Amino acid sequence: PIASGKGGVGKSTVCANLALALASTGASVGLMDADVYGPSIPTILGIEEEPELTADRRIIPVSKHGVKVISMGFFMKPEEAVIWRGPMLHKTVEQFLHTVEWGELDYLLVDLPPGTGDVQLSLCQMIPITGAVIVSTPQDVALNVAQKAIAMFTKLNAPILGIIENMSAYVCPHCGKREEIFGSGGARQMAERLSLPFLGEIPLATSVRKTSDAGTPIVLADPDSPAAAALTAVAKNLAAQVSIRAMQIAQPKVTF
Ligand code: ADP
Repeated sequence: PIASGKGGVGKSTVCANLALALASTGASVGLMDADVYGPSIPTILGIEEEPELTADRRIIPVSKHGVKVISMGFFMKPEEAVIWRGPMLHKTVEQFLHTVEWGELDYLLVDLPPGTGDVQLSLCQMIPITGAVIVSTPQDVALNVAQKAIAMFTKLNAPILGIIENMSAYVCPHCGKREEIFGSGGARQMAERLSLPFLGEIPLATSVRKTSDAGTPIVLADPDSPAAAALTAVAKNLAAQVSIRAMQIAQPKVTF
């Protein structure tokens, strides 16, 4: 899953772009939007259609830009989120995992709600997850809450695959001047301090927001842009971490 301690750090944007970047390498990718408090994946990917059901009432994910997508947003009215509590969230996550026809997937990315709540707990209890990815902005406040999310996953025995810094330095597209609006390098330092993989930094760029708002994320809309290149590099680093994990699971370390 892709998690963050705080909302608004660009978790969903990063998650959608990573899914597309992984799919463009030929991998079979699923994306589950479990952000009950603000399911934004359908907007970011420009999904207007609703999922169809099989004859035995299993849910078929919506295929968009080569990614199979299921979102909480497909099944709830916007005003419903506030009244959802633990047991209902738990049931919904369970349904997502068991009644969706994902087919064979190489990666299933899960966009979590911010924080350390019920959905995170349910997910870690229900399936063996390969690991969690933490998205943070470079600011101290965001980093502090990111650290709480890391502590939660560690407690739940979910390995941390790495940390991503989003909204890193802004590079003016006109003059090339670098501006560190929210600071820069904080997430890398945190990763070093905690001995966790640092997956990369994604610049703050108007084009990232605009392409997301328009329903075609930047890795597809403008693959040669610096932000798209940064996201593609992060996707490669993430794939490498997933491979390392998979190998560790397949070949348990032998100690003498
Ligand atoms: P979260 O899922 O963490 O709540 P979102 O992905 O919804 O955050 O992002 C919040 C807002 O910030 C959105 O409007 C999004 O387009 C914008 N955004 C995310 N990442 C960047 C970035 N690197 N540069 C510019 N805007 C960004």
